Amino acid sequence: MEVKNKRVLVVGLGKSGVAAAIFLKDRGARVSVSDAKTEDQLPSAIPALLDKGISVETGGHGERTFRDQDLIVVSPGVPSDVPQLEKARAQGIPIIGEVELASRFLKGHIIAITGSNGKTTTTALAGEIIGMGGYEVLVGGNIGTPAISLVSDATSDTYNVLEISSFQLESIESFHPEIAVVLNITPDHLDRHHSFDAYVLAKARIFENQTAQDHAVLNADDPTCAGLAGKTRAQVHWFSRSKEVECGAFVREGEIFSRDGSGEQEVMSVSGITLKGTHNLENVLAAVGVGRIVGCEPHRIRRAVEEFKAVEHRLEYVTTIQGVEYYNDSKATNVDATVKALESFPGNIHIILGGKDKGSDYSVLKDLLRARTKRVYTIGAAAEKIESQISGAVPVLRAATLETAVKRAAESAAPGDIVLLAPACASFDQFESYEHRGRVFKEAVHALAARKAPSEVGGAA
Ligand code: ADP
Repeated sequence: MEVKNKRVLVVGLGKSGVAAAIFLKDRGARVSVSDAKTEDQLPSAIPALLDKGISVETGGHGERTFRDQDLIVVSPGVPSDVPQLEKARAQGIPIIGEVELASRFLKGHIIAITGSNGKTTTTALAGEIIGMGGYEVLVGGNIGTPAISLVSDATSDTYNVLEISSFQLESIESFHPEIAVVLNITPDHLDRHHSFDAYVLAKARIFENQTAQDHAVLNADDPTCAGLAGKTRAQVHWFSRSKEVECGAFVREGEIFSRDGSGEQEVMSVSGITLKGTHNLENVLAAVGVGRIVGCEPHRIRRAVEEFKAVEHRLEYVTTIQGVEYYNDSKATNVDATVKALESFPGNIHIILGGKDKGSDYSVLKDLLRARTKRVYTIGAAAEKIESQISGAVPVLRAATLETAVKRAAESAAPGDIVLLAPACASFDQFESYEHRGRVFKEAVHALAARKAPSEVGGAA
C-alpha cells in the first residue's frame, strides 16, 4: 500500500489513532486527525502530533475535514454510523481501521484472537508459548501496543499475535489472519452493536478472508462460538474442557491433550496451570491449540503455561491479610466475567460490584451470589440497579467509594475468606479506566496491609 503524498484523515485520537497518524506521517502521507473530544479530554500526544506537522482538530468533526481525503482511518472507539463517516463512505472514500492498516504493512504471520472475555490473557499466553517454542513473536493489538507499532519490528518470520476487539473487526477489509481464535461470545457492548446477532456477526468477520490453508480455533463448549464453524473456510481446531475433540486441545482425566491429523500428544497436567478458574483453563486450551498449530513442542508449551502469571487486573492475586485473600479482577467489566470470577472460588467471597452500567442484567448473578458470597458491596452509578436486581440473594452494603468498600469488606471478612473486586460494570463513572480502578483497589488493600503486623500479611494464594 502506498500512502506517500496521500491525504489521510485519522478519526479518533486514542492510542491506536495516535500511532496510526505518526506511522502514516513517517511514510510521507499528508495527515490530519480529528476527535470529537476536547483537547483536555484527550491524551497528551497532541503536541507531538503538531510537532510532526500533523494538523489536529478537537472538540468535534468539521464538515470539511472529511472532504477530499484519499483515505480515512477510524479508531475502534468511533462508531461506524457517525454522519460524517456515512457521507464520506457515500462519496467512495475508503474507510479502514488501524488493524486493517497495520495488516497491509505487517510482515510475517498474523494470529488474531477475539472473544467477549479472555482475549488479553490468551493473547499474552499465546505470545509466551510461541516465544518459548523458539519462534520469533510480537504481541499487540488491543492488548496495549497498537498493531501498527509492530510493523517496524516484524520480519517475514515473525508471528504477530494480535488481540482484536469486535469494534476493530468492524473496520477490516482484507485483514487475513492465518490463525483466528474466537474464545467465547456472550452479550457485551450491546449499546454499540445494538443486538446480540450484530455482535456475533462482527466477531465472525475475523474469518472473512481466511482460506482452506488457514486455521480457526473455536470453543466447542460455547454454543454461539461453535455455531461459527460454518462461517470459516479455514481448518477448524476445537478446544474444550468438557469433552474430547477430534482436532484441537482438550482435557482427559486432569491432563491436557492436543490432537491433529498426525495423532495425539499429551501436553501437561491441568494442575500445572497457575491461573485461577475454569475460564482460564479455556484460555490455556485455546493458547495450547495455537501453539500446536504453529509447531511448538508440547514440553515447551508446558513450560510457558506453568511460568505464566495472571495479567494485571485479571483475577490478579494482590495479597493475604490476616488469612483473607484479596483479588483484583477490575477487568471484569461485564456480567459473564463476574460469573467466571465467582466460579473461581468455592465460597466465602466478599464481592465488590458496580460502576457504570452497560445495560446489563445483573439478576443472572443471583444464584451464584447466594451460593458463594457472604456479602456484596456496591459502588458507583449502577449500585441501585444492581441492588434491586439481586435483592434477597445476600446481604448488600452500599459504599460511597471503592476504598470504603475495601475497608468494610476487610472488617467483616474472616480468615479463609476472599475479598474480590469483579464489578461487572465499566469504570468510567468514578475512574479513568479499569486499570485506574484496579490500582485504586490494590492501593487500598496495601494501605490495609501497612497497618497490620508483617506476620499477619503475605503468603501465596
Ligand atoms: P479481554 O481482553 O477479552 O477483556 P481479559 O483476559 O482481559 O479478556 O479478561 C477480562 C475479564 O474476563 C477478566 O475479568 C477475566 O478474569 C475474565 N475472563 C478471562 N478469560 C475468560 C473466559 N475465557 N471466559 C470468561 N471470562 C474470562
